[in-house]
Amino acid sequence: MHVDYIIVGLGLAGLAFTKELEEANKSFVVYEDNSQNSSIVAGGMYNPVILKRFTPVWNAIEQLKVALPFYQSLEYKFGKKYDFTIPIYRIFKSVEEQNNWFIASDNPLLANYMDADLIHKKFEGIIADFGFGKLINTGRVDTKLLLQDYRNYLSEKQLIRNQGFDYSELNISETQLNYKGVKASNIVFCEGFGLKKNPYFNYLPMQEAKGELITILAPNLAIDFALKAAVFVLPLGNDYYRVGATFNWKDKTKQPSAEGKKELLDKLNSFIEVPYKIVDHSAGIRPTVKDRRPLVGVHPKYKNISVLNGLGTRGVMIAPIAAKALYNHLEKNITLDNEISIARFQHLFLG
Ligand SMILES: Cc1cc2nc3c(=O)[nH]c(=O)nc-3n(C[C@H](O)[C@H](O)[C@H](O)COP(=O)(O)OP(=O)(O)OC[C@H]3O[C@@H](n4cnc5c(N)ncnc54)[C@H](O)[C@@H]3O)c2cc1C
Repeated sequence: MHVDYIIVGLGLAGLAFTKELEEANKSFVVYEDNSQNSSIVAGGMYNPVILKRFTPVWNAIEQLKVALPFYQSLEYKFGKKYDFTIPIYRIFKSVEEQNNWFIASDNPLLANYMDADLIHKKFEGIIADFGFGKLINTGRVDTKLLLQDYRNYLSEKQLIRNQGFDYSELNISETQLNYKGVKASNIVFCEGFGLKKNPYFNYLPMQEAKGELITILAPNLAIDFALKAAVFVLPLGNDYYRVGATFNWKDKTKQPSAEGKKELLDKLNSFIEVPYKIVDHSAGIRPTVKDRRPLVGVHPKYKNISVLNGLGTRGVMIAPIAAKALYNHLEKNITLDNEISIARFQHLFLG
């Protein structure tokens, strides 16, 4: 068997790159072993504003220009809804924050997203003495459903192998790769935190961050917007809400923990006063990078081995544009931006 590409890992990064390949009629096979689950547990929010300081997220407008049509075309492909446009209400902690919001909403980069009018309406069960700032044109992608559908689709076409990729079985020559009898022109590694086990790319400085989320049933909350205070509260429909997420830089396991749950509940209870029941608790490892930028590019020594990783806390917005950049680099020789290219870490590669 000969394919143009082998893809390792089918989270958001693998999906976005595979979609590029499909559109260009390139042949491929995907290896996926469910060892990581960041894309599956993710809250799925996209939002171009940093809600701590009310500043623009790096490159967000360009990212959204690619990401929104990307999810729309997948909705069209599978006849399902994945992208739910939903406003975000940010609870203010002080008058100073209200003023900062007002000033930030004047920034031309953010004007389409930040409503300058402050909201003073009371909502049952929400503590917000200083009111809210409203973000528009923001939303949530149901990444779990999307990945399920995409994996099933690849399965039906026999393009995915549900097995771990064994790095020691990869034979590399200048013109061809051979993995257990599959010959390929290129391989793209999209393993999320799994990168740490990849002998070709584990020199890259990933600073992973575990995140935990709970899902609650809260019939009295009745909000149709995402709420942001100490944590996010995202409406999922039928009175279910996802609450999260934590950041833990030490724990490298993807198991939900008692400490994570306590932290989420303490934070939730600081601004919610309705009864609720916890119905789910999940965790995953975000593939965050030291400089908070993606890891995209070709191996310093092997020109047919590439990486697409480092999506960090914002995989929903970054995956489509980063995948396109890698594809254009490999197939059209278009130079990668220095900010995303792994060439910026060349000095860490020891050969
Ligand atoms: C709690 C939490 C909340 C989040 N919320 C948001 C949010 O609201 N919005 C947002 O944009 N982002 C969010 N993120 C971040 C987002 O999930 C990540 O940026 C994104 O999912 C990373 O995608 P990925 O494909 O690089 O990695 P992953 O999703 O981890 O995918 C990597 C895949 O590779 C597979 N794999 C690894 N090694 C191998 C191997 N050797 N062989 C075969 N398969 C392998 C894994 O099983 C996995 O499926 C959140 C993350 C967490 C943990």
